[in-house]
Amino acid sequence: MAKKQFKAESKRLLELMINSIYTNREIFLRELISNASDALDKRYFEGLTDKSKNVSKKDLWIKITPDKENRTLTIEDTGIGMNAQELESNLGTIARSGSAEFREALEKNTSKIDIIGQFGVGFYSAFMVAKKVTVESRPAGSEEAYRWVSSGEDGYTIAKTEKDSVGTRIILELKDDTDEETYSEFLEEWKIRELVKKYSDYVRYPIKMDVTKSIPDPTDETKTIDTVEEETLNSMVPLWKKNRNKISEEDYNEFYKSTFSDWEEPQKHLHYNVEGNISYTALLYIPGKTPFNFYNTDYESGLRLYSKGVFILDNAKDLLPECYRFMKGLVDSDDLNLNISREILQQDRQVKALAKSIDTKITKMLEDMLEKEREEYEKFFDNFGLNLKYSIYKSYGTLKNKLQDFLLYRSSNEGNYTTLKEYVSRMKEGQNEIYYACGATIDEIEKLPVLAKVKSKGYEILYFTDSIDEFVIRMMMNYDDKQFRSVTEAGLDLDSEEEKKAREATAEENKEMLEAMKNALGENVSEVRISSRLTDDPVCLVADQGMSIEMEKVLSQDPMNRGMKATKILEINPNHPIFAKLKEVFAAKPEALNDYADILYTQALLIEGLPIDDPADYARRIVSLMVNTVLPEKNDSGSEAETAE
Ligand code: ADP
Repeated sequence: MAKKQFKAESKRLLELMINSIYTNREIFLRELISNASDALDKRYFEGLTDKSKNVSKKDLWIKITPDKENRTLTIEDTGIGMNAQELESNLGTIARSGSAEFREALEKNTSKIDIIGQFGVGFYSAFMVAKKVTVESRPAGSEEAYRWVSSGEDGYTIAKTEKDSVGTRIILELKDDTDEETYSEFLEEWKIRELVKKYSDYVRYPIKMDVTKSIPDPTDETKTIDTVEEETLNSMVPLWKKNRNKISEEDYNEFYKSTFSDWEEPQKHLHYNVEGNISYTALLYIPGKTPFNFYNTDYESGLRLYSKGVFILDNAKDLLPECYRFMKGLVDSDDLNLNISREILQQDRQVKALAKSIDTKITKMLEDMLEKEREEYEKFFDNFGLNLKYSIYKSYGTLKNKLQDFLLYRSSNEGNYTTLKEYVSRMKEGQNEIYYACGATIDEIEKLPVLAKVKSKGYEILYFTDSIDEFVIRMMMNYDDKQFRSVTEAGLDLDSEEEKKAREATAEENKEMLEAMKNALGENVSEVRISSRLTDDPVCLVADQGMSIEMEKVLSQDPMNRGMKATKILEINPNHPIFAKLKEVFAAKPEALNDYADILYTQALLIEGLPIDDPADYARRIVSLMVNTVLPEKNDSGSEAETAE
């Protein structure tokens, strides 16, 4: 029989699993039981919506059979099953979407545990304990069964087989024990019992096992005899139906991991009951990490929906508002129709009421967290804050009131996170605007030429390091009636009346020179003017009304918007020695000013991190300037003489 090869990524994943030193190998059982439970859900649901399928709850079960002699562990279910094609596509490739990301993680040499954690690798975890895996499956509604066999790296085979009942049987041939690792314990009754209790207690189908029991010998009371009895190992009560006081943090976390295929602990859970117009129970979680594909289109958000404990559908998007799409969890309501489908979900009045109630609860939870558990909230914000920002932006600001107080920014206030409310509470007498500065990193922002001046005036500055930040506040327009003002915006005015007068006088005196510079720069700038915002640096670029320089940078990455440019103003620091030099050049040799203007403008672009048009030309001009610089003559005192022209 021809062996088929795994897809490249699957192969790497398998190698990883086979050689895994992952300390939590025992979770393979949880993963296989969870798959079995999903398959049972599907079959049960099919039976509910199509009575002709004749599915009875009592026929739905999972069975675990250890066989010490042959060193095999069998996990069997009576679920929906798989046909040959499904065996091939489900088990021959990594099931999770995102193989590109997976490849990337492998190439980046991310640690094994991280890889295992990031990508829900369910079924393949079997290879952490098994040297050979056999899957026999017969799909519901078919007489044909197929067998998939693989020893891991060298591919797999699929062949026809006989199976007298619908469902899937997975046979693990356990690895040999070594000095460091033992696998035999997975064949022990007590171990299996322990693992099922720990990871799969709430599975809503019986997980059975044949156990050996000693009973008194009826013929001789002094003796006992061993009999084999089938026992159900799990309590089958869904976790969310249990009394909250009886659920430990660990129960919640284990449930999360097994149900939502995440290997990371969740950050927080929210478990509540609502009675009223619509009655329901919800168990919601904030994941502990941003899912690797969270911002990709293939990320599936939404909640799992149950009606009276019966699974209806997964990833029901309409139950969660976009802004909270990071939440995972489930909702169980007695008031929903079992026949509800994804399509009618949207229009269903009950569902709308449900969604609204969930929305309110999540909002309240975040408010509480922000108020009472600041550190936790900051961690949450690091993971999902970007989504809140996107939501304000995408809603054209209509979500402003709901979300604006959830935003956190680093600021010049010791680099800590601040809310807008906290910023406003610290605003100085007479400060009417909220100042911000943009840059790729905090470091970059702190080096901006204009920052020192604003700080020296005692104003706090918000640091915008996400490219979306400025777009978001444009949508918000203001906060608490205070406008946002970029420190690199033309309209920023920090000067006192006298300072303003002095600046205007300097501008008037040098009007012709400034105009000559503007003419030299042509369309590149709308104006060349005297700056009030520079302390040590010679020049800077500021944006006139409309698009900011930071926005130009962001948009330049977007092929649809390339070519959109901010209107720029070149500002010169009148207190910098270059200013006196410019005056001198303009007086002695006006045409030489062109080079100076050009070089200063190009430098300003570089400081802003904007691309320059003609680097070679810039380099030529600098070199020519260096060549033509006349060094001061050495004199005895060692002090510099004026540079001669
Ligand atoms: P996941 O369950 O996270 O999608 P897995 O690798 O564990 O990923 O499984 C891949 C797919 O194989 C599942 O989505 C399911 O369609 C199918 N599958 C796995 N186990 C079973 C089973 N016991 N019965 C039916 N289908 C199964």
